[in-house]
Amino acid sequence: MAENQDSLRRYRQTRIVATLGPASASREMIADLYHNGGVDVFRLNFSHGDHADHAERIRIIRELEQETGRPIGVFADLQGPKIRVGTFKDGPVALEKGHVMRFDLDKTPGDATRVCLPHPDVIDALEVGAHLLIDDGKVKMRVIKKGKDFVEAECIAGKKISDRKGVNLPDVILQSSPLTEKDLKDLEAAVGMGVDWIALSFVQRPEDVAEARKVLNKRAQLIVKLEKPSALQYLQELVEMSDAVMLARGDLGVEIPAEEVPSVQKRVVRVARDAGKPVIIATQMLESMVTSPTPTRAEASDVATAIYDGADAVMLSAETAAGDYPVEAAEMMRRIAKFVEQDPLYRKIMDAEHPDPEETSSDAITASACRIASSIGAAAIVNYTTSGSTALRTARERPPVPILCLTEYLDVARRMSLSYGVHAVHTEDVDNFADMVEKAIRMAKEQGIAVDGQRLVITAGVPFGTPGSTNILRIAWVK
Ligand code: PGA
Ligand code: MN
Repeated sequence: MAENQDSLRRYRQTRIVATLGPASASREMIADLYHNGGVDVFRLNFSHGDHADHAERIRIIRELEQETGRPIGVFADLQGPKIRVGTFKDGPVALEKGHVMRFDLDKTPGDATRVCLPHPDVIDALEVGAHLLIDDGKVKMRVIKKGKDFVEAECIAGKKISDRKGVNLPDVILQSSPLTEKDLKDLEAAVGMGVDWIALSFVQRPEDVAEARKVLNKRAQLIVKLEKPSALQYLQELVEMSDAVMLARGDLGVEIPAEEVPSVQKRVVRVARDAGKPVIIATQMLESMVTSPTPTRAEASDVATAIYDGADAVMLSAETAAGDYPVEAAEMMRRIAKFVEQDPLYRKIMDAEHPDPEETSSDAITASACRIASSIGAAAIVNYTTSGSTALRTARERPPVPILCLTEYLDVARRMSLSYGVHAVHTEDVDNFADMVEKAIRMAKEQGIAVDGQRLVITAGVPFGTPGSTNILRIAWVK
């Protein structure tokens, strides 16, 4: 069945994240992205738009949720300490190799000899030999002299520099917080709008995540964006401390050499899967679809590679936020995901890279449930879960069948939308064994996940409704 003929049940395991923006702000567009594009999670980019725009988009998403009866995930992506140069009084400045320029704190417009870099902590942290990558890495400069409140840098590559271009600093760990004044305001606004996650940009170290957690105080979950070389040094810890991670290849690909990005991607997916945390692969996936109705073959291959790597989710940025073909881009991702997942080689890779279950009853049960589901050809795995943790552990197995997650908490159901293969339903809990089986069967049928004559593998915890108690596994016939 084509997915858009029955849009509420996704015929694929990989999840799709789409960024909303001017090209996708209307109700019609958001609904079209959900139904035909198969988008599972929406991203609001707080680097752009004002709070009223974002609030309106969330309102539309929550309305769509009511209409479809399906939980939908939403996250706010904070801008973070994005560093930019100031302005120039006579327009762009031409550069050539060896051109020396001063970066200082003086706010007056710059010229060919100097420009403002309005970040005292950055100037402080820059040492001789450190690199400044300007305008997405198009200009590369190296610090040759350090003074009080300024540095001098020489151009190594690049042709011009102009107003407010972004600056990446791969060699320095800044002491500043990953949450700027703007981020703190945006975070409060986003939490007030009821987002499911906050995505934290330019995370450098574990303390950054701890700080954000403190500010968040459990009001939303946390997505750690991996886009700094130093974040890769602390990868394991950052993944452990997060609720989900995003490989943000845009900034990362400026800060580390492009040739390293694919291997980093494979490592990040593996570490996240091992930890049972959802992992999103982001940026430039179908970039040419910003202006073209079809992707390049290399882009199609890039989306497929992320899926073969075992990612939970693939993400669209400008393609859906500001492009000419938002729905087509999402549809393309959906089709690629569906095709890859049907490839026997994909299944072999998912199974071969299977992480060992940890020594907990939850892992023993979820890993067994997946094995049993494969051996008996079950239609689905059903997890009763209070915190969502059982469904996350099942997703870690990357099973070939849907994971029907039944939870009494709407926020848990919503955040399951980012996880591999999970189809969450917000529903009342059961309190006895017979109801557990009966309800699983009824829900699987209602949700179009199983038909009469198929089997389900059900997990739950006794006593019912106690978090972290998963201890039963039951095979049931659908009838
Ligand atoms: P951004 O993050 O779009 O917020 O910069 C994604 C990336 O850097 O890839
Ligand atoms: Mn970024």
